[in-house]
Amino acid sequence: MAQQYQVLARKWRPQQFDEVVGQDHVSTTLKNSIEQSRLAHAYLFVGPRGIGKTSIARIFAKALNCIKGPTATPCDKCDNCKEIAAGNSLDVLEIDGASNNGVEQVRELRDTCRYTPARAKFKIYIIDEVHMLTTAAFNALLKTLEEPPAHVKFIFATTDPQKVLPTILSRCQRFDLRRIPSTLLVNHLKKITKDEKVAIDDEALTAIARGAEGGMRDAESTLDQLIAFCGDKIAEKDVLSVFGLVAQDKIAALTDAIIDGNTNIALKTLKELDEVGKDLQRLLADLLDHYRNLLVLTIGGAGAELVDVPDMELELLKQQAGRIDSDAVLRIIDALAGAEARLRYALSKRIYFEIALVRAIKARELIGLEGVLKKLNELKSQLGSAPAAAASSPRPAPVNLVRETTPASLDEAWTYAVEHLGKVTPLAKTYLVGTKPLSHQAGTLTIGFDPEFAERREFVDTARNREILQAKLKEKLHTDISLKFEIADSVAPAIKPVAVAAKPPAPIVNASDFKNDPLIKKALEIFKGQIVEVRK
Ligand SMILES: [Zn+2]
Repeated sequence: MAQQYQVLARKWRPQQFDEVVGQDHVSTTLKNSIEQSRLAHAYLFVGPRGIGKTSIARIFAKALNCIKGPTATPCDKCDNCKEIAAGNSLDVLEIDGASNNGVEQVRELRDTCRYTPARAKFKIYIIDEVHMLTTAAFNALLKTLEEPPAHVKFIFATTDPQKVLPTILSRCQRFDLRRIPSTLLVNHLKKITKDEKVAIDDEALTAIARGAEGGMRDAESTLDQLIAFCGDKIAEKDVLSVFGLVAQDKIAALTDAIIDGNTNIALKTLKELDEVGKDLQRLLADLLDHYRNLLVLTIGGAGAELVDVPDMELELLKQQAGRIDSDAVLRIIDALAGAEARLRYALSKRIYFEIALVRAIKARELIGLEGVLKKLNELKSQLGSAPAAAASSPRPAPVNLVRETTPASLDEAWTYAVEHLGKVTPLAKTYLVGTKPLSHQAGTLTIGFDPEFAERREFVDTARNREILQAKLKEKLHTDISLKFEIADSVAPAIKPVAVAAKPPAPIVNASDFKNDPLIKKALEIFKGQIVEVRK
């Protein structure tokens, strides 16, 4: 009889605590508690799917019920161990919360609890996806949990602990399992492929680990799939096509393009990837990951151990990190992360991705405030201002140069809201001509009135007008908006792109003097900036 093919996840399921990959913190604690006979009644394993929750639960069940148990190293030879491993032990009941979420099943469970185990020491209930139980079922379970018979142990597993009733949580010893670092996944996959006599290179293994996002089960079943497709020789491109992933060298190319400020190459690379049907959402996540690693490396200190990538990739990252500083990396991450949510629901993901790339490149070119001050000081010494004069005149105030722009959508939303108000109250619309959004912070949209028309604010600012404007803004901006009207300095030219904070209380430094200062003039020229706010 031909031997039936056994899927890798099953064949390589860990049988001992020491074989569990990437969850040492959990295995060690459980082993210690067994050795010290400090056993709880109920355990809860929390973590994303496919990272070993059920495997640990079964090992733990064996450890408790092994003929030699409780022991940290179940023998795997006795009937109890064998039955648990095969899933047919009478004393270890596995319940899938997702399919048995009825109160009846839990009542039944509660009733069987009372009987002593058939032949092992404990009656063990493993309830997977425990958060899926209905409230009624939870409550029935709670009764048993409050006063469990001494021979009963509960092992719960969940991907969503927020949905588990607090009264249940408080009665469990909780363990949080982690996503498995990709270097550990790669090592484990190497062991498997060697045993299965499959030729596979490191790039392909790394790609599998990347696609599995820290999940052992996903990694193993992808490998299954690949062996079925490709036989005993697997290359990186095979893996990438399974996941719709983008090769690491393309991600590196995009990163280079952003660092070098090369918009053309960035957009071209994206176009190519989109045209061959790559998953752009996934690509953005990978790009963000890459920048996260760059950030860690540019910050220094913590060092490379926080960067979980193969050596080859680490070299590349280090080389890129040498060409950019952490401030710029942070701004790029901001720009990219901003697009993530938008991309998710967009029909044309490419447009949003393109915008994100352009934003990232612009963000890279911006100079941080510290850089501005440094350059200003350099300028100052070039212009040869005497130290005495410098001391008597006010210190150059920090200048808020125009940075990341308020999304043009803010202007658009405001125009839309005003247009609509105009249909209801034409007069109000005329009063709002020339107003502009100044900032949008913490749900408050500040609208600036030109000082020349300051009195118009009184006419416009009524509860009814606000209500209409706010409702229309919400339509466009998809969030609750509360309006604030302010008199702004010279609304017209300077406002559009800026996130200005609150209006300064009173101009301590005379703004027009400031603008005429040759030093400031020169600085604005260099930074292609404009003055939005003058602070002392
Ligand atoms: Zn045993």
